[in-house]
Amino acid sequence: MKYDVIVVGGRIGGSVSSLFASKNDLDVLMIEKQPEIGVPLQCAEATSEETFQTIGIKPSNRYICSEIHGAELHSPDGNHFRMYPHNDEIGYILDRKVFDKSIAIQSAKAGTDIMVKTTVKDLIIREGKVKGVIAKHLGRTMEIEADLVIAADGVGSNVARMAGIDTLFGTKDIGSCVQYKMVGMDVDPNLMQIYFGNEIAPGGYVWIFPNEDGVTNVGVGIRNHKKTAYHYLNKFLSNFEATPVEMNIGGVPLSGTVDKTYTDGLLVVGDAAGHVDPLTGGGIHLTVICAKIAGEVAAEAIKGEDISAEFLKRYEERWNDKVGNVIKKSLKYRKVLDKLNDKELNALAKFMKGRDLDSITSASLLGLVKESPSLVRHLKDII
Ligand SMILES: Cc1cc2nc3c(=O)[nH]c(=O)nc-3n(C[C@H](O)[C@H](O)[C@H](O)COP(=O)(O)OP(=O)(O)OC[C@H]3O[C@@H](n4cnc5c(N)ncnc54)[C@H](O)[C@@H]3O)c2cc1C
Repeated sequence: MKYDVIVVGGRIGGSVSSLFASKNDLDVLMIEKQPEIGVPLQCAEATSEETFQTIGIKPSNRYICSEIHGAELHSPDGNHFRMYPHNDEIGYILDRKVFDKSIAIQSAKAGTDIMVKTTVKDLIIREGKVKGVIAKHLGRTMEIEADLVIAADGVGSNVARMAGIDTLFGTKDIGSCVQYKMVGMDVDPNLMQIYFGNEIAPGGYVWIFPNEDGVTNVGVGIRNHKKTAYHYLNKFLSNFEATPVEMNIGGVPLSGTVDKTYTDGLLVVGDAAGHVDPLTGGGIHLTVICAKIAGEVAAEAIKGEDISAEFLKRYEERWNDKVGNVIKKSLKYRKVLDKLNDKELNALAKFMKGRDLDSITSASLLGLVKESPSLVRHLKDII
């Protein structure tokens, strides 16, 4: 077997990469280790309109569970304020099992071959260049050649590491998350609820996202803590009378991107590359943007018969142009949030009522000096 491109991982990063490579007339094989694409769910399923615009599709009722018009942020003392997106942009809660599979189906319709329940175990490397994969399917090992491999195999990507790219995130850089789909929580169907506090979710937050009618995604992400995310979620839920119908767990990289996302014959995409917003943990829309670029650059490389690192560098330059600054800025905000104690979080919530992060200026901070001088010192880092 020989392909132009092999994509490892069949969820959003893999499906979008393979879709755009196939649309550009390449012979593409996508390999997914799970028997079903999109399963198990490891996501709170929130995304923005930009996700659909980037892929070039209209949001469909088949996988949209609810529309989101803003978020209510809760401080440890129980106060809360609302934030609304710029330009009234609508957010969505997806059914990701359906969404990821529908993008894989589109990719297959564009010509991608897909192997499920197949695990990439190793790379074929000749003269320092990645030349394909060694994969295992139902006990059978096979060598499949390709001019280019795209590693979209998620956080802690083995595949990129096999090619010598360091994709290991330290434990303090990974958000440890657990989520239930709950029935019986009474929330506004168009608002996300976010709870902060060092007793509630150290290094992260609790989320309640309205899913389909009467169902909510309730989860917690924490970082670098002795107690588990599971402990914090159950503690939070002890205040509610509601019952779970599904549970999912997962890790999300929250320290920005890996140092290098390309080498001879290989590109790295999505969680594997750290294409995640370090403040929110949202990776869907950033992954989609970078995966589209990966598919397009793969086509340029194959058509130009140049899969050298020197040529593939343009992949990193292009995603960096599009999302590099967003990720860096969010990392800066996250590092400031990390430093705040609950008193400072309470003062910040009070100050943020009616504002957004971009509207914090030195002048506006003057009003805070009396209330919380230490908070002002922290916020100065992001102005
Ligand atoms: C609990 C939780 C909640 C989240 N909530 C949100 C949210 O609300 N909004 C948002 O935007 N982001 C969210 N994220 C982040 C988001 O889910 C990820 O950024 C996104 O799924 C990354 O997609 P990906 O395709 O790069 O990687 P993944 O979704 O991790 O997919 C990698 C795929 O590769 C496959 N694979 C791995 N190794 C191999 C191998 N060797 N051979 C073959 N296949 C392999 C895996 O089975 C998997 O299907 C959340 C993450 C977690 C953990």
